[in-house]
Amino acid sequence: MEIILPETGERVASPRLFCIGRNYASHAREMNSEVPTTPMVFLKPSTALVGTGGDVVLPPASKDVHHEVELVVVLGRRGKDIPEAEAMDYVAGYAVGLDMTARDLQAAAKKNGHPWTVAKGFDTFAPLGPIRPAAGLADPHACSIQLTINGALRQQGVTADMIFSIPRLIAYCSSIFTLLPGDLIFTGTPEGVGPVQHGDVLVATVSGLPPLTVTVRR
Ligand code: MG
Repeated sequence: MEIILPETGERVASPRLFCIGRNYASHAREMNSEVPTTPMVFLKPSTALVGTGGDVVLPPASKDVHHEVELVVVLGRRGKDIPEAEAMDYVAGYAVGLDMTARDLQAAAKKNGHPWTVAKGFDTFAPLGPIRPAAGLADPHACSIQLTINGALRQQGVTADMIFSIPRLIAYCSSIFTLLPGDLIFTGTPEGVGPVQHGDVLVATVSGLPPLTVTVRR
């Protein structure tokens, strides 16, 4: 899925998806995981992206696909070793995202010491809402974040509870990877993750951003 950067209108055909695991202590606890002391990063392929109004397709390989609602940061500039104090200058926009996860495959990967790529990387496992310019979100660390399924509230949190702030995540990621315009950082999910079923309608929201709606299909 192509994305279009706010302000410049630059088109990015195959953006890179950096995802942060366990960035809310409440979610780390519900997964019986340690609260990390440095950000935990994994990647998804850009073929996992699907826009609002699209379908999340359940892969036959999993019997337990979970929703994870997340605030997504869209980068607008190339950068390496970006200092935290300058990191917000690299943010072009924000969107609501879902980090869909094959929880059964992830559990098996954890047990075997394998990467999470398969559990996280299926086609349509990264729904992304409309991107809004960074200036439109006064304080991305003061947003409410929630997910409903068929109208029932399943996840609710506040971005103030992120363990690692957006500048910290940008500084950390850029210490490893040269960051590029169009890169997406999925900043982690609050508690309340759970399974989705065929026919479910998921509505993900972050206050100040347009909602993301997807339908789950077998
Ligand atoms: Mg996640």
